[in-house]
Amino acid sequence: MDTLHALMKGPLPSLFFCIGNPVVGNPTQYMMEEAFLAMDFPGQYITCEVEPNQLQTALEGLKALKVAGGNVTAPFKQLVFPYLDSFTESARLSNAVNCITLQADGTYQGDNTDGKGFLQSLQEQVGNLSERRVVLFGAGGAASAIAVELVLCEVQEVILVNRTREKAEALAQRLRGVTKTTVSTQAWEGTYQIEEDGLVVVQATSVGLFDEKRCIDVAFSQGLQDVIACDVVFNPTDTAFLKRAREVGATTLDGLGMLVNQGVLGLQNWTGMVPDAQVMRAALEKAFSIG
Ligand code: NDP
Repeated sequence: MDTLHALMKGPLPSLFFCIGNPVVGNPTQYMMEEAFLAMDFPGQYITCEVEPNQLQTALEGLKALKVAGGNVTAPFKQLVFPYLDSFTESARLSNAVNCITLQADGTYQGDNTDGKGFLQSLQEQVGNLSERRVVLFGAGGAASAIAVELVLCEVQEVILVNRTREKAEALAQRLRGVTKTTVSTQAWEGTYQIEEDGLVVVQATSVGLFDEKRCIDVAFSQGLQDVIACDVVFNPTDTAFLKRAREVGATTLDGLGMLVNQGVLGLQNWTGMVPDAQVMRAALEKAFSIG
């Protein structure tokens, strides 16, 4: 139903938002608008830069407008917790919310679709993950969300490797015992060598964002035919990390798939409809070609 039809005959257009600071350069609105058009759904999406000391006021205003849902980006992913009514297991365990949805009873639920989006990309590539061991670089927001989903889907082991080891250890402690997945940490001193075939290796630090030459300090042994190397960085899409992994025969997975999938899952939360992921990926590629 187009917006005009919705205005004349209802249901009224649904309002969605993205809050963050800064938000310039964030392509989510464009991706969502393209998806709404393709779905013939009367959604309106706005991107709002919110001052950190105005977060509560902003959220109260959005609730008063009966927004149907929205996205939360840095620096608010943790700060929104006190203003929401309920949380999914993914949000609770990762201690971060990137997606808010108005529930049937008028309350607002916080979810984290980042890790789920990543997992979906990985499963599409690899299939069953239950025998896989995963080396995960990073312990920030993206890494935490991914670690949570890897544990919830019960991979064999998650090995957390972070520049600041204490952060990896804190994350590991939160996730140990949640399922049968073993969660361990390893020191990152000098070059981290990937030499075991069959590993899934996930680059979830911010290294390489907007810089196609920068790569974390990692080296791959030759002939790793069954290693899956994944990067969360989506701009550039083909990062130095992925290129390094491909050189030794590894299969690679870029961060754009995760970004698309977290948006797809958000739209499903909000509308109950399945949007066209191809349309959303094309929108992001177009946005990044301008950015
Ligand atoms: P955070 O700031 O929460 O975490 C940053 C992480 O990067 C930390 O683990 C930090 O280590 C590590 N790091 C930073 N600089 C270095 C360095 N020089 N060497 C080694 N490690 C370093 O960021 P996020 O987790 O939110 O974001 C990380 C990346 O993920 C960003 O590029 C972001 O764009 C991307 N992202 C992608 C998504 C997608 O859908 N594809 C979704 C969300 C994020 P330390 O703890 O030691 O500081």
